[in-house]
Amino acid sequence: MTDPRERLRQYLEQRREMGESEFVLDSLSVDEALKVLAFGATPPAAPPPSAARGASPAAPRPAPSGAARGEVPEPPRASRTEGVTEDWKSIVSAPDTETGVKPKAPKSAKPDAATTAAADTPVAIPPELAAARTLDDVAKVIAGCKACALSSTALNPVPGEGNPNAKFVVVGEAPGATEDELGRPFVGKSGDLLTKILEAINLKREDVFICNVLKHRPPGNRNPSAEEIRVCSPFLLRQLELMQPKVILALGTFAAQTLLGSDSTIGQLRGIEHQYHGIPLIATYHPAALLRNPNWKRPAWEDVQLARRILDRP
Ligand code: URA
Repeated sequence: MTDPRERLRQYLEQRREMGESEFVLDSLSVDEALKVLAFGATPPAAPPPSAARGASPAAPRPAPSGAARGEVPEPPRASRTEGVTEDWKSIVSAPDTETGVKPKAPKSAKPDAATTAAADTPVAIPPELAAARTLDDVAKVIAGCKACALSSTALNPVPGEGNPNAKFVVVGEAPGATEDELGRPFVGKSGDLLTKILEAINLKREDVFICNVLKHRPPGNRNPSAEEIRVCSPFLLRQLELMQPKVILALGTFAAQTLLGSDSTIGQLRGIEHQYHGIPLIATYHPAALLRNPNWKRPAWEDVQLARRILDRP
């Protein structure tokens, strides 16, 4: 068994490689934690990896004024974005311990090269999917899909739900246990937070369409594999093609990387407007990550406000 200090060092180094400088334990930064562990001086900060295929890395952000790292930031003012409520206050101040969410193992900077593979390999659209004219048609094709093993381990397909004419589409990673049981997306702890996030920008779940990259649950909530993303992403692409929303909010690394064909980290992809086939796309942290790391709630708030402003554009 590896020395626990060494395991912690590896974990912190991995987070630093992912472009994350903050660490939630007692407001320590990754660098400070490494120093406490006496692993010596930090190597000079690596230049931000350039975002692949047109995605520019997000500029480093100054700490919110008056809020030291680790403090709960001041709630944003409604006036910053029209139609935004103060509900975010309850979101940013909700203690993690209330969530009961089991942290996932940290993902590596390249989860398993999945998204790169998914983007690079041309995906064959099954004819019945190409023939689908409505989201219900797509859901029927998903229900009959046996393209990967997940359909045999999952309890239910989770095609997505909401307004079929939605102008705001939320894309997550894959169904979890509750979603699998109910056949509905984002209905567990992450879903509760997503609902609050949407309410904070004056959107109800039924106003938007919520779906995932994977339409069946990976056992034990493990990361999606490259092959699963490759065979499943055509469903998402067809859904987006049919809806033609005004803005897409991609939650987490897998959704952002899959839709942008990028292998950049979510920290690099967030904060700026991307384009997905001419549709503005905002990438931000996954709600499950926000439940684990409250320091990301402030940047996530900025991201969802940006998505809302895009929605409000004439
Ligand atoms: N996480 C996701 O990415 N999607 C869900 O539907 C639920 C949790």
